[in-house]
Amino acid sequence: MAELTFEFPDGNKKEFNRGITVEEIAKSISVSLAKKSVAGKVDGNLVDVMQPLDEGGKIEIITSGSEEGLQVLRQGAAQLLEAVVKKEFPEIRIGEISADEDGFYVDTDKEDRQVSADELDNLAAKMKKVIKNDASVKRVYLTKEDALKEVDGDPYQAKLINQINSDNVLFYGIDGILTLAQGVVAPSLKDLKHFKLLSVAGAYWEGKSSNPMLQRIYGTAFYKEAELKADLQQRQEAKERDHRVIGNNLDLFFVDPKVGAGLPYWMPNGATIRRTIERYITDKEIAHGYQHVYTPVLANLDLYKQSGHWDHYREDMFPPMKMDDDEMLELRPMNCPSHIQIYKHHIRSYRELPLRIAELGMMHRYEKSGALSGLQRVREMTLNDGHTFVSLDQIQDEFKKILNLMMEVYKDFDIDNYTFQLSYRDPKNTEKYFDDDEMWNKAQSMLKGAMDDLGLDYVEAEGEAAFYGPKLDVQTKTALGNEETLSTIQLDFMLPERFDLHYVGEDGKEHRPVMIHRGIVSTMERFTAYLIEMYKGAFPTWLAPKQVQIIPVSDDKHGDYAKAINEKLRAVNIRSNVDERSEKMGYLIRDAQTHKIPYTIVVGDDEVKNNTISVRKYGEDNSRDLSMDDFLMEILKDISTYSRN
Ligand code: ATP
Ligand code: ZN
Repeated sequence: MAELTFEFPDGNKKEFNRGITVEEIAKSISVSLAKKSVAGKVDGNLVDVMQPLDEGGKIEIITSGSEEGLQVLRQGAAQLLEAVVKKEFPEIRIGEISADEDGFYVDTDKEDRQVSADELDNLAAKMKKVIKNDASVKRVYLTKEDALKEVDGDPYQAKLINQINSDNVLFYGIDGILTLAQGVVAPSLKDLKHFKLLSVAGAYWEGKSSNPMLQRIYGTAFYKEAELKADLQQRQEAKERDHRVIGNNLDLFFVDPKVGAGLPYWMPNGATIRRTIERYITDKEIAHGYQHVYTPVLANLDLYKQSGHWDHYREDMFPPMKMDDDEMLELRPMNCPSHIQIYKHHIRSYRELPLRIAELGMMHRYEKSGALSGLQRVREMTLNDGHTFVSLDQIQDEFKKILNLMMEVYKDFDIDNYTFQLSYRDPKNTEKYFDDDEMWNKAQSMLKGAMDDLGLDYVEAEGEAAFYGPKLDVQTKTALGNEETLSTIQLDFMLPERFDLHYVGEDGKEHRPVMIHRGIVSTMERFTAYLIEMYKGAFPTWLAPKQVQIIPVSDDKHGDYAKAINEKLRAVNIRSNVDERSEKMGYLIRDAQTHKIPYTIVVGDDEVKNNTISVRKYGEDNSRDLSMDDFLMEILKDISTYSRN
């Protein structure tokens, strides 16, 4: 008596007895399908081909070589790696092992010292050997009690087993070693030909920083060699672009978790880039009618209670400091309440609107330690912040002005790879968002209307708004492929209400302004990280920490000439240096190149005699002989047009 009904992708339905396996179901269709099958999918969940099924549903047979089979292949690689490390290091403990679209990993823990990157090639060779000798994967079911005995002494495995809600615990037997099934693996590892163990990194057990740190071994696997090659190349390129790697090579910044995770130190080179951005954006905003201010990073906690941050944003805030006189001081997580104080300090008239207050405002947010990344996500940051206070009928126009300012800035930095996202509240989450349907609907439809009017494309994202209002976010991708917000424009009817803001209208009566929060170049931290990755460290001349490197052929003979040139350049604020190290010329020239300095000048006998300089621009193959005046004209033009070429 058939008990279970399965529906195939073509809509056909078939009945089978309880306890049937995916392998048998495949066989009932064709023997060759059964041979190729590596897993099944029942109602969207991957299942082992030999797992007895006790419920019917929509079924798919996953075959080797398919896109979905890739996860099964990678899980096989992870279980195989586990078997190999267990054989290699009998005392090793195993945490989570997993496979996904990015690859696979195995968490390990060794008492004396952790597995190191140097050992990966050896482990990979051992994996290959196992596949060559016997690629079969045995299915071994143990009772919970026996399973716990099997992993004796490994607290992580014991915990994983205890979390399984069945008394039938599946182990995969590979090369005579039992490995707890933490995913679905094919009956044979024979398809596992193109894989690579990539790296090791610390990972907390269960992702909690209060738990022990395990050593995660990362790898990836593909069905085809060409796919593996392409993936490895992409990883290499991402690594070369990674702002943390370039930041280190070019001595731009560092973060030392011992001194403070997420609290970056800007070295002179990085500080120069940052200062240049700060000067640029401040000048630009002043030209666009903003008034720049300075306000404190600390304020009485009451300010953030009134603003709603304390109720809706506390998770991201540092705990308040209790002072001797019982005053509670809070490090600000946003600058809005500070700029509201500036607004409130005078009685405002309609003639002053739009009133645009801006600041390079330092703020602190207690980001999760796992989310911190170089300069991209930090705990102390300086935002290119601005708040414009407008009347209701000025919203649309001001929104467009801000967008225009943003576009101008993007053009100067050559930023063209971004998408717009309208971020709305999640109406169900009344904890995070102010609970006022009317205000949200009004603000959200105004933003959408403005974008539609401008004919700009955007995606809509629920649950991404700020707690006080919806936003237009400009999304970019990091080298590692994560999406991050760069610029943001946010509409806010709420804070003006909470702080009882008003202006005197033409009618002599008091009116409520609307606030627009906006960040153009984001925080100095995130923007610098973005630029490092976008330019791959080869900054355009106006931003480059060092703009000109002068190399005398011989210090004795040409040193004075080099210094004179240097002084002329510095007199017009060009960041120029003489390289006085007594290294070989070739080395010094190459060094200027690896540091991606825009102009390298070499001076020797000919140059001194002819009163010229030999100039080589970064990225160009040949040097040119120029007079000092011609060079000055060239570099000053280069700097003033922000051009990258
Ligand atoms: P995110 O979603 O990235 O956490 P958010 O939406 O909370 O940011 P806003 O309050 O809008 O951020 O902050 C303004 C801008 O500051 C963001 O658009 C982003 O560019 C930048 N920023 C936010 N958090 C960080 C951080 N931890 N490190 C660096 N920059 C940040
Ligand atoms: Zn704000």
